[in-house]
Amino acid sequence: MTVHYYQSSMADRFLRVAGNAIGRTTCGNRLCVVNYHRILAAPDPMLASEPDIATFRWQMALLARCFNVLPLHAALVRLDAGALPPRAIAITFDDGYRSVHDLALPVLKEFGLPATVFVTSGCIGERNMWNDRIIEAVQTLPDGQLDLSDVGLGAYSLNGLEQRKDALGRLTEASKYLPPPARLALVERLEALVGEGLAHGLMLTPEMVVSLDRSGIDIGAHTISHPILTSLDDASAELEIAGGKEQLEAIIGKKVRLFAYPNGKVGKDFDARHLAMARAAGFDAAFTTAVGAITRSQNRFQLPRSRPWDTTPFLFGLRLLSWLAQGPP
Ligand SMILES: [Zn+2]
Repeated sequence: MTVHYYQSSMADRFLRVAGNAIGRTTCGNRLCVVNYHRILAAPDPMLASEPDIATFRWQMALLARCFNVLPLHAALVRLDAGALPPRAIAITFDDGYRSVHDLALPVLKEFGLPATVFVTSGCIGERNMWNDRIIEAVQTLPDGQLDLSDVGLGAYSLNGLEQRKDALGRLTEASKYLPPPARLALVERLEALVGEGLAHGLMLTPEMVVSLDRSGIDIGAHTISHPILTSLDDASAELEIAGGKEQLEAIIGKKVRLFAYPNGKVGKDFDARHLAMARAAGFDAAFTTAVGAITRSQNRFQLPRSRPWDTTPFLFGLRLLSWLAQGPP
């Protein structure tokens, strides 16, 4: 116990000292934004990239001990002024899962950490997003073959965890870029194969969005229906970007200042048109899912966000420091 404590306090000290050293070089005045989606009540092998609450808790404990966690909007103001502290981090969540309210918020409060939640406004109080409906269906379908070749999506074996994970990955990736009516038809077909008993509510309710806001969690926008913006015509994309902002502002009664692009891959999921739309809608900044740190010279409407995938606190912290040292994507 004593040795373990000594080792972890040495690791913490190393991260702080190295982070301060990075902050004193030309790599100073930088910000890393950490990006979550769901937090799971217990580990789920089908959702290996989503942290469970115990993992989330050690990650927050590490950030509280070894980094300077700032509210995202305030951090951008300090970035402009050249006044960011070393080891500057901001925490974000995408999509608007109720686990942010039920599981993450108590941990954030415990460690006194600020965060921003980018909420898909059309999903508030609604049934689950299409990707979660596919996950639930693929988890629940009986062992055997799933044949979707009549709609050009191939056939899948669902015997055991590995085959289910593979099917889930391929189906989700293919569905992302389907037109929404075709995607809905696919989801409904999968659910019909499963039968009744699906769709546990996973998304925030309007009351939870208000409760997060009143707890000091900043609410950011993430469109109305989470489309791939490049798949839309310009008028529809504008409506998604500006409409999501307006719907959230109506719920919390204050200005929504930050935006995150759905799916967030630069050049693939959004392009220069959508940067201009986010600016015109009145946002102060917009975020991608590219890996890297934010510097003062970057386009304020294409700022990177990512999350270390390491499974120990020291390596998780070290990766954040490496991103701060590397800078932009
Ligand atoms: Zn999203």
